[in-house]
Amino acid sequence: MLDLECNMIMLVGPMKGGIRYHPEVDPDEVNALAQLMTWKSAVADIPYGGAKGGIGCNPGDLSKSELERLTRVFTQKIHDLIGVHTDVPAPDMGTNAQTMAWILDEYSKFHGHSPAVVTGKPIDLGGSLGREAATGRGVVFAAEALLAEHGKAIKGLTFAIQGFGNVGSWAAKLIHERGGKVIAVSDITGAVKNPNGIDIPELLRHKESTGSLKDFQGADSMDANELLVHKCDVLIPCALGGVLHRGNAADVKAKFIIEAANHPTDPEADEILAKKGVVVLPDIYANSGGVTVSYFEWVQNIQGFMWDEQQVNRTLQNYMTRAFHNIKNMCQTHDCNLRMGAFTLGVSRVARATLLRGWEA
Ligand code: NAD
Repeated sequence: MLDLECNMIMLVGPMKGGIRYHPEVDPDEVNALAQLMTWKSAVADIPYGGAKGGIGCNPGDLSKSELERLTRVFTQKIHDLIGVHTDVPAPDMGTNAQTMAWILDEYSKFHGHSPAVVTGKPIDLGGSLGREAATGRGVVFAAEALLAEHGKAIKGLTFAIQGFGNVGSWAAKLIHERGGKVIAVSDITGAVKNPNGIDIPELLRHKESTGSLKDFQGADSMDANELLVHKCDVLIPCALGGVLHRGNAADVKAKFIIEAANHPTDPEADEILAKKGVVVLPDIYANSGGVTVSYFEWVQNIQGFMWDEQQVNRTLQNYMTRAFHNIKNMCQTHDCNLRMGAFTLGVSRVARATLLRGWEA
């Protein structure tokens, strides 16, 4: 099954979103994810509309050469829909830098060399330095902006992090470097805790060598479900959607939640957390570092010039901090929480662009 969905066509720039290979890809979900990308890009203030694409398949069941053929045939079917100034795909669940390299190669057969047609490419084919860490780094910049607003800093605060993959491990590493105490970490293999702070570089080495968090000497094992309600200052879900729900929200002890995963908090949990006074930094802002650095990759490809990693990280910090203050302004104007403030900011930017183009009904 092939599907590609896009909206906000050419309103402020090309459409942008991930291509997903997953057995449960379906058009309604792809539509919803494309729409979310629209609001996320608008909140980040990058000149993109939202898009998403997917193929219903299980990439784990396919050999590398089957994946390559699938990707090339998919690209042959959509090469007239995607393009540097129309729709710029990126990796998502089940796809990666290699998938983007195949799309780039196949697309270039039809349209000539076009590195900016996809982002999340290997560095050797025009990928951006700093892209791999970008979502986790953006989460940390977002946390810094939120904590500063509350007169706090990462240093000395305690953190619990669910998920130790790309986003969670980068967030943990950068928090550790800034003097934050990561006191609990979980992944699909289990969970560990240490009230004095886990040595994150050591935990990364352990995970790298054993493939698991289990048997890590620098911490005690704990129940993975307990992590979400563990006593800490900041909880960062970096794994799955829907992990905070009516069954556990009342027991959350963190004062701040940074939504690094997509949709970790369901609407009932949101209400319960709000009543408890827990401050929730929403996913459409908190995990936008990845799409923001994808935008930088596209800009570099169009410029034909590669930024150094410091420039990528510094510019990401500027974007994340600016977006936070724009959301806060919305919250003050409309007397609403951060999630409503972020959506109001995104929707109002899209509405303004629509009106300026004269598209009103
Ligand atoms: P990943 O596959 O690299 O890591 C996911 C992690 O979650 C792994 O460590 C896995 O073991 C862990 N996990 C899975 N089930 C778990 C469970 N039941 N309990 C605890 N841990 C569990 O994925 P990622 O790229 O780090 O993405 C994480 C989340 O962030 C996802 O929700 C994704 O949609 C979102 N996100 C990622 C990016 C990005 O650029 N990678 C951008 C935006 C949003």
